[in-house]
Amino acid sequence: MSVVSYESTDEDNKGQAINFICYKSGSELGLSMAQFPKAVLSTVECLQKEGYQSYVVGGSLRDILFGKKPKDFDIVTSARPEEIRSIFRHCRIIGRRFRLAHVYQYGQRLEVATFRAEQQVTNHQSFSARHQRTVRDNIYGSLEQDIIRRDFSINAIYYDPFADQLVCLQETLPDIKDGYLRIIGDPALRYREDPVRILRALRFVAKLDLQISPETEQQIIPHCVLLQDVAPARLFDECSKLFSSGVSLKIYQLLKQYRLLEVLFPQTAEALKRGATATAFNLFLCKLFENTDKRIAISAPITPAFVLAGLWWSVTQYKIERLGRKRSYSSKLTQVLDEIVLVQRQRIAVPARLLGIIYQIFMLQPYFISYRRKEICKLLEHRRFRAAYDFFCLLSQAELADPTICQWWGQLQQTAGKRRTEMIQDKVKQIKAGRSSKLNR
Ligand code: ATP
Ligand code: MG
Repeated sequence: MSVVSYESTDEDNKGQAINFICYKSGSELGLSMAQFPKAVLSTVECLQKEGYQSYVVGGSLRDILFGKKPKDFDIVTSARPEEIRSIFRHCRIIGRRFRLAHVYQYGQRLEVATFRAEQQVTNHQSFSARHQRTVRDNIYGSLEQDIIRRDFSINAIYYDPFADQLVCLQETLPDIKDGYLRIIGDPALRYREDPVRILRALRFVAKLDLQISPETEQQIIPHCVLLQDVAPARLFDECSKLFSSGVSLKIYQLLKQYRLLEVLFPQTAEALKRGATATAFNLFLCKLFENTDKRIAISAPITPAFVLAGLWWSVTQYKIERLGRKRSYSSKLTQVLDEIVLVQRQRIAVPARLLGIIYQIFMLQPYFISYRRKEICKLLEHRRFRAAYDFFCLLSQAELADPTICQWWGQLQQTAGKRRTEMIQDKVKQIKAGRSSKLNR
């Protein structure tokens, strides 16, 4: 392993030599060209042929070295976005905060970023006055400058598949080996620059089963309130990643532990403190996240609408109960969901397309305890039946709904024709005879 000495240019350390980069042969670590899709290799090659430096970078290499399958591949280069665009026929420049190129090769979309340098604090336009939050970040630099702008040591890793050269921070490989999450630089400053790094930290801790360094951890709680200032659309993307990571149960526990639920889902956090139903609601959310993780493990489809419906369930029930019994369930549900969405969108931009699904999941719940034949048949045929049924079963696992009713609906789905009609008739009789449920309607 060879170490490169780099002369710092920042005012405090000017002229001081810092040994922080190491170069290594990728094949010694089990990396090879075969691990990268054709689109990635071709993009890196095209950039290099035009005389630019170009590497695969970050998450995909981290995942391979942790023995996981990479989700996507990011590329970094010394070429500026306009130069990248001039090289590739199918290329689009996106982003304001980070200007990036999207290159389309072999039907795949790849993110190609340009090396960045550290922000100058004197550049007032690029910094939010309140928290030194980086709002624009397009100062280009060298690999040596780019590497220290990465978030965690395990992500500060570059690979040139053609030269079989791996470039990383000195801490990167030992941290990957030890399963250790360490933020690069001063944690307080790095969280202030971009509070989303807090959520990324928790995602990597959960997903890769990492131990978090004390410095990286200690600054989380003092800085989590800064997530309030992050663009709600970006937070929606980050939260979607958290809940679709395959370890959402662990992430839910971490969000509570680090008081992030209060910032991201304040109404849910409030409901989890509300006396009588708090324990059952927490158990329900644990079951829901456990179920989400199991679905991901078997590649079953998931939607963020289901998770949001879960997070909002107790809040919805509480608000509906307070509206009294005079109005219809649908009218109360519409009003209550509007109120919840209004508050939630101050933090997280929930797309309108998800609201319809959430409304339907909630709207169908009382029909599981219906004693009307027609309603039972209609529910079975509803396009959201399956999601609503899964939701009802999860409620029943936390004793927020009657488990015997959940079982009955499970059996009903296995039947057809005459047997199904008999089952429905028997249920109607039974319920009329006075079975109660905890669902309100
Ligand atoms: P995943 O793709 O699983 O979300 P990733 O680490 O690849 O994980 P990306 O968002 O694709 O995440 O980012 C690619 C790389 O860019 C990261 O590995 C990291 O080096 C760097 N990076 C991403 N977000 C930040 C950030 N907020 N601050 C600093 N560096 C970042
Ligand atoms: Mg990535």
